[in-house]
Amino acid sequence: MRQQIVAGNWKMNLNLQEGIDLCKTIIALTSDATRKVIISAPYIHLASLVTLCKGTNVKVAAQNCHHEISGAFTGEISPAMLADLGLEYVILGHSERRAFNAETNSLLAKKLDAALSQNLKVIYCFGETLEERKANSHLDLVTQQITEGLFHLEADTIKNIVLAYEPVWAIGTGETATSFQAQEMHTHIRKVMTAKYGSEIAENCSILYGGSCKPTNAKELFSQTDVDGGLIGGASLKATDFVSIIKA
Ligand code: PEP
Repeated sequence: MRQQIVAGNWKMNLNLQEGIDLCKTIIALTSDATRKVIISAPYIHLASLVTLCKGTNVKVAAQNCHHEISGAFTGEISPAMLADLGLEYVILGHSERRAFNAETNSLLAKKLDAALSQNLKVIYCFGETLEERKANSHLDLVTQQITEGLFHLEADTIKNIVLAYEPVWAIGTGETATSFQAQEMHTHIRKVMTAKYGSEIAENCSILYGGSCKPTNAKELFSQTDVDGGLIGGASLKATDFVSIIKA
């Protein structure tokens, strides 16, 4: 059975003490959670959070990593460094990195390889813009993002990948995909995965929804057959909201 997951993406928010306080509250309030809980924090918070989360239900993720393991890349962080900290996950392909850092599917394919080579699990994000949805090209676009970013991987590595469908028009906008739109896309994603890797691997692959997910809409979204939890931005910064989404 595939894993149900709620991951929080703090983005470039919270100082270290605020992050530690939030993390402690999340740990305390989610010890009985049935979904796996992940928090994705700025690099400089990760070491402290890994220590705090040891032996708890909460896992820690980075928000990005470089596609090389080491070298002359000033200001970058390698997946080997993340693994060395004891991290389990890294988010790759978030729409903000695709948009502001020009991250392409082919670069992301290299990042995936580098992260997997260090035994990190990857939350691979993708999704269409409003223009692409209006042009009715969203299904094709998502197929392309999955094909170019992921399909070079061997079948036995897919168990280390979590997919996150995040329509760009719903991220941080307050506008959420309807449960129908989310289920329609997640069914499509699972079909695409089935065509490449077969039904057993596709059925076991967790597909998260992200985009203005809140306590008020999480239950409805997560009740869709192919929505296996969420990637949460804004609402993950407030313990009560995040925990109520985890338990939705
Ligand atoms: C995100 O950035 O991954 C996200 C889903 O953000 P928000 O929940 O704020 O829309």
